Amino acid sequence: MTDTVSRAIAAAVAEFEAENDNWAPAVAAVEELAPDDRVLLICHVNPDGDALGSMLGFGLGLRQLGVRNLQATFPGEFEVPAPFAAMPGLDLLVPAHEAHADPDLVVVFDVAAESRMGALADRLERATTSVVLDHHATNTGFGDVRLVNPRAAATSVVVEELLDQLDVELDADIAECLYIALATDTGSFRFDMTTPQVHEMAARLIETGIRPGEISRRIFDSRPFEAMKLFADVLSRAEMEPEAAGGHGMVWTYATLEDLDRHAQRPYVLDALIDPVRCVAEVDVSVVIKQVAPTEWAVSLRSKGAVDVSAVAIALHGGGHRLAAGFTGYGTPAEVIATVRQELSKHLVS
Ligand code: AMP
Ligand code: MN
Ligand code: MN
Repeated sequence: MTDTVSRAIAAAVAEFEAENDNWAPAVAAVEELAPDDRVLLICHVNPDGDALGSMLGFGLGLRQLGVRNLQATFPGEFEVPAPFAAMPGLDLLVPAHEAHADPDLVVVFDVAAESRMGALADRLERATTSVVLDHHATNTGFGDVRLVNPRAAATSVVVEELLDQLDVELDADIAECLYIALATDTGSFRFDMTTPQVHEMAARLIETGIRPGEISRRIFDSRPFEAMKLFADVLSRAEMEPEAAGGHGMVWTYATLEDLDRHAQRPYVLDALIDPVRCVAEVDVSVVIKQVAPTEWAVSLRSKGAVDVSAVAIALHGGGHRLAAGFTGYGTPAEVIATVRQELSKHLVS
């Protein structure tokens, strides 16, 4: 791990431990709410399973506590990806432009940097109190009450603890949201963060009666035929560079808006594309470059351990975790991958 990032992670862990006192103010922020106080929950742009699941699971918990004036939202296009179309708590969602302008309490989920809140970032200032629940070591340090645990496998780990401290009963709907979040960020319990505590949490969730097989099929193992054809096109143009990343190797590909159009697919279907790419055995690093505007690209980075891709992402103004990170790139795919190639060799894990 590069020095800068190992120092950043050590500092974040130390901060979280020093801030363990923050459970009390976070609990107080909820318990002191009057029944009609405005509460706004916000997760990151292009929400993934952890962002939506953590936010909606917490929202259902607040509803159980009698919070009535409750909204959940995220910036950018107001579109819930099809795999999440049956997630419990979706009725809490409102488009960003309908979100309370001056909430009494704002709670933020899985957001590594304020930029990931888009136009909703102003609510951090406008709200009477803001509480931040996250697990990114690269979290930039915003919000009044911070519960940011970089050792948590998912934001939902932090959510479950806070719900417990609020004496919310873990019902099947809350459990399904938190399970989707946990399964998403652990790659279905395969990644390094899959600790005994993660399995213990999964056990508590499954004990409520939720059905992991059915949930996994719905969330991870289901996509339209045309999405599969789109994947085939994009995977067929992948390139492998064995010399990249100090000889650990890189594989990369890109998907354009035209690719999406040709197959009549929505951008979120590409979120799953990093999975086949990161399985390439010969290399350590995998990169998927997804067009979001003519010269703007959402870039996903993964490593098997030889490179700290969160350091690469930070150098390119993004963020994430050591083995999974992202940033926004500009120019052509060739230009974007050139910036990645250059940074990779600077952030080898020694
Ligand atoms: P993704 O490749 O989109 O699945 O993202 C991998 C990880 O990197 C997640 O933890 C994201 O929260 C984080 N991430 C992705 N893009 C950005 C960005 N532009 N800024 C900060 N963090 C990001
Ligand atoms: Mn996320
Ligand atoms: Mn997460």
